[in-house]
Amino acid sequence: MSAGSRVECDVVVVGAGLAGLTVASRLERAGCAVVVLEARGRVGGRVLNQELGDGLVVDVGGQFVGPTQRHVLGLAAELGVPTYPIFTDGLTVLEIGGRRHAYRKVPRLGPAQLADAGRAIVALERLARRVSVQAPWQAAGADAADSRTLADWARRNVRTRLGRFAIEAFSQGVLACEPGEVSLLHVLFYLRSAGGLRQLTETSGAAQQDRFAGGSQLIAIRLAERLGDRVRLGAPVTRIEQRSSGVTVHANDVVASGRRAVVAVPPALAGRICYDPPLPGDRDQLTQAAPMGSVIKCLAVYDKPFWRDAGYNGQATSDGLGATVTFDTGPPAGAPGVLLGFVTGARARRLAQADPAARRGEVLGSFGRYFGPDAQRPAEYVEHDWTADQWTRGCYGAHFPPGTWTQFGSALRRPSGLLHWAGTETATEWSGYMDGAVQSGERAADEVLTALNMR
Ligand SMILES: Cc1cc2nc3c(=O)[nH]c(=O)nc-3n(C[C@H](O)[C@H](O)[C@H](O)COP(=O)(O)OP(=O)(O)OC[C@H]3O[C@@H](n4cnc5c(N)ncnc54)[C@H](O)[C@@H]3O)c2cc1C
Repeated sequence: MSAGSRVECDVVVVGAGLAGLTVASRLERAGCAVVVLEARGRVGGRVLNQELGDGLVVDVGGQFVGPTQRHVLGLAAELGVPTYPIFTDGLTVLEIGGRRHAYRKVPRLGPAQLADAGRAIVALERLARRVSVQAPWQAAGADAADSRTLADWARRNVRTRLGRFAIEAFSQGVLACEPGEVSLLHVLFYLRSAGGLRQLTETSGAAQQDRFAGGSQLIAIRLAERLGDRVRLGAPVTRIEQRSSGVTVHANDVVASGRRAVVAVPPALAGRICYDPPLPGDRDQLTQAAPMGSVIKCLAVYDKPFWRDAGYNGQATSDGLGATVTFDTGPPAGAPGVLLGFVTGARARRLAQADPAARRGEVLGSFGRYFGPDAQRPAEYVEHDWTADQWTRGCYGAHFPPGTWTQFGSALRRPSGLLHWAGTETATEWSGYMDGAVQSGERAADEVLTALNMR
């Protein structure tokens, strides 16, 4: 494509993440002429493979997939990308208040503490049942739930250290923000959209059960291969104009015109595009009121998974320094060993400011506390601070603070004239996940085909 070229098509898609690529491939299959404009020099967005030699591919972004995530599993199967289970056999580590507990099913903590944490989970799940994933703002008690944070709720509903830890670990580990940053209503929506807390937090039978062979980005790469030169890389969209005749989308060296456009980027990034005429007030304010979470994803590679020989499964959760959630993310059998650690929420913001050697030292220090001194000496170490990534600016996804759902929720998927919205943040199933991205792409493609009378 030559510099400053013009493209005419039916539908312009902004963003070549899983959502945008799903939209484009479904539209293309239905006979629409599409073009996908992608800011980065690669496809996949928040899914990113990194090769570490000897054929070892690690996921620097989205990785795990669970059995109820039917949209992404269906797409991967269609594209010939199989899954395999992560290693889960052995003891899990819980570190709380500086004390380390290794356990198989339930950690040995006082029964009052365990009962308190259990009650909190049951209470949240009961509240979540009232929330419809289509319209959380219409739920009974939505205004009350959306006028307080998860931390406000926890102050009234949990009494013990373990109870508080369970709430903090959920918020930091699953939403990548602190309990004081997220609306209770958003937490209830998130629980509902995934099918419950167990689905969100566990491995077997839940969201962290499997991963994709060859890395999750392979799904995006294969979708993009099918679309060929309809995907334009290095094309950050800066301006979208709508007239009665159609849309004109301006990127670096490309101006694409179509009958409709689909914006498949997170709300915070959608708000950085200039719209003419301007977006309706509520849709723009939504983009101002849906911040991204904060995550540094860290991977340490070892000659072998030594923790397995010592009886550990590589999973840890902690309230201490460094990575507070870990997984064994190496091949199910044999070498090498790969430990994955998440630094999230306030810890991620603090460590993002730190000197890289100090950050690495703190992360590997936490691996050492969980699995012994060998964990502090990896053969290789990789990290990615997603808050610093220009075209993502945080992850895993957006979280809604108090007021966002009830004031602006109805603008989340409502088309703005000829513009439609996709991206995992707009999903009703597994919002925030790869599955949600694909589901949102399917929904947006259907919406466009209906609008164009092509269904
Ligand atoms: C560290 C990390 C761990 C995660 N772990 C998991 C996991 O284990 N399981 C899971 O299911 N999910 C996980 N996720 C979340 C999952 O990766 C995302 O939900 C999903 O990939 C989002 O896809 P999307 O298409 O909605 O958005 P994105 O992937 O963000 O795609 C948006 C695309 O738009 C592009 N773009 C942005 N602005 C513009 C512009 N102005 N012009 C043109 N292009 C633009 C971006 O470059 C990007 O390619 C994780 C994410 C991260 C980062």
